[in-house]
Amino acid sequence: MTTPIEANESDTRCERRVVRAGYQGREGSFGARAAARCGRPVALPTFEALLAALAAGALEEALLPAVDRVIGPVAEALAPLGAAVDAGADVVVVGEVEVPMRLVLAAPRGVDLGEIAEVHSQPPVLRQCGGLLGRLGASAVEAGDTAQAAAAVARLGGRRGAVCSEEAALEAGLVPLLEDVSDVRPNVTRFWRLSRKEGVEPDARPPRVLRVPTERLAAILRQSGIEVLSSGGESGFCVVPEDLVHAAEGAIREAKAKGARWLGPPPDAERRPRVEGLPKATGVRPPAVVTVGGFRVGGGARAVIAGPCTVESEEQIGRLARAVARAGATALRGGVFKPRTSPYAFQGHGLAALKWLKAAGDAVGLPVVTEVMSESQVGPVAGLADVLQIGARNCQNYDLLKLAGGAGRPVLLKRGFGTTVDEWLAAAEYLLDAGCADVMLCERGIRTFEKSTRGTLDLGGAIAARGLTHLPILADPSHASGRKELVPGLARAAWGAGLDGLLVEVHDAPESAWCDGPQALLPEDLETLCDEFGLLPGATPSIERVRTAIDAVDREIGRLVARRLELCRRVAEAKRAAGVPLRDTAREERVTARYLDTPGIDEASARRLAESIIAMGLTVEGWSGEGAG
Ligand code: PEP
Ligand code: MN
Repeated sequence: MTTPIEANESDTRCERRVVRAGYQGREGSFGARAAARCGRPVALPTFEALLAALAAGALEEALLPAVDRVIGPVAEALAPLGAAVDAGADVVVVGEVEVPMRLVLAAPRGVDLGEIAEVHSQPPVLRQCGGLLGRLGASAVEAGDTAQAAAAVARLGGRRGAVCSEEAALEAGLVPLLEDVSDVRPNVTRFWRLSRKEGVEPDARPPRVLRVPTERLAAILRQSGIEVLSSGGESGFCVVPEDLVHAAEGAIREAKAKGARWLGPPPDAERRPRVEGLPKATGVRPPAVVTVGGFRVGGGARAVIAGPCTVESEEQIGRLARAVARAGATALRGGVFKPRTSPYAFQGHGLAALKWLKAAGDAVGLPVVTEVMSESQVGPVAGLADVLQIGARNCQNYDLLKLAGGAGRPVLLKRGFGTTVDEWLAAAEYLLDAGCADVMLCERGIRTFEKSTRGTLDLGGAIAARGLTHLPILADPSHASGRKELVPGLARAAWGAGLDGLLVEVHDAPESAWCDGPQALLPEDLETLCDEFGLLPGATPSIERVRTAIDAVDREIGRLVARRLELCRRVAEAKRAAGVPLRDTAREERVTARYLDTPGIDEASARRLAESIIAMGLTVEGWSGEGAG
């Protein structure tokens, strides 16, 4: 085992400065893994010793297990940190590492599962395995860390087991008997990377950790929806989400909580934008939500903008508006100024068609989206359209972007076919900088060597952009593929990738459409997609329309129940192999609680649902009344 002092000496001999990353425990423990990801691991026996070594400059970093997926706050580590902070320690949180907790139950060779009477591990780890301890009927014995528990069990022998990593078990000469024994899988512990104020460079986005010194502050923070990680008593810490930072500041003022301290970046700390030079588009902010009447996109709200490529006549757009609204679209699109490759192709009906489009949208209660191609169009179009679209060809037309961004309307910015993600975000920066409060991005296919599709839908780029901006990102599978038979597949892929919405071209007579007919979905195809995505049918649907939506939900429920029953068969096999009873009423209560927690289901329905699901499960597990309880 390396002591901090040895580490210190070797450092002075090293040319390159090595980060000494301390942890509580010994080699082979999960803390050691967390430390190895940040620098050279240095073992310390207790959390107090770890924090003291950091304060004394014997470490550049200290890794502290703060929050675990199963047990929540790790009080054993948070309490000493709280004491150190309250005593004025110069400590900041510079980042976080997530360590997977794959725990095994291991015992000396020759000891069977059924014989184990004592389980050794670290207290927080023992709390993660309540289910296992209950099933074994074994008593818990506390150790300093998981690797130490394994070593102790190997030394003592007898009817003992240790819960630790598989590597620590094998290192101690134990035999793993059960894998993945924590109550929730996959389990992960979040370790905070602690440093001194003038210590290591922080991560790009360290957690906003706040010290909560008093009960009163804890209560006010909880009221604002902020989770307090209690470290025993009523003091603790919280990790404040970006959108609640100001609420937290307010709570500190209200509670006049003197010892409250930000260990993560303080609220006024300007977060570096994720792309240099693009602070408005790539600054770290909560997801933007764009709202236009009933239309919402971003921050979990998902949209489907649908309609024809171009507005052909007043009658056509009225008819298609009714069709897409009925199908479940949340906005109506239609081009009135068309960017056509050939100057001889139909160029759009212009402002006359915009009036038809707006009237058609109003008649079905949908906002309308239409493209502006030139600076002179911005004013007149913004006078009537709800959302301005900047087309792919104009993605980098900066004068147009400046004007459209200042027009007082939300803007949908298509990515150009030769525009990189950073250039696309830079175009969004122009809109934001011009004052546009509501920018939406739309990936519509880029130009590649592939000729079988009109463009190549760059989902990778769209997902990458999602990690760089707070703005909603939609996908346009119609222009990306140019072929209607490919549109549903691409739409599902984009939806499944978690993008915020879709822009889809729809026509009820695609063969005679004036523009982009081959890529237009029929309204009924759009309806099928909307049902699949669980979008509610439009404002005034017919009984038949709502019934198609219900049929789609029933098909999905059927598939999910089949999947659940298959898993029940599998768990029954695993239970038989492990010699544990098929029925576990505590588990059944947790299953019921999950249904009770589902928003939108009343309590009586949730209970009936849970009862029948559990009963079906027990039947396929082959439960016949034995081993209840
Ligand atoms: C359109 O949406 O009709 C259009 C012309 O799209 P893009 O600019 O993506 O080609
Ligand atoms: Mn089109």
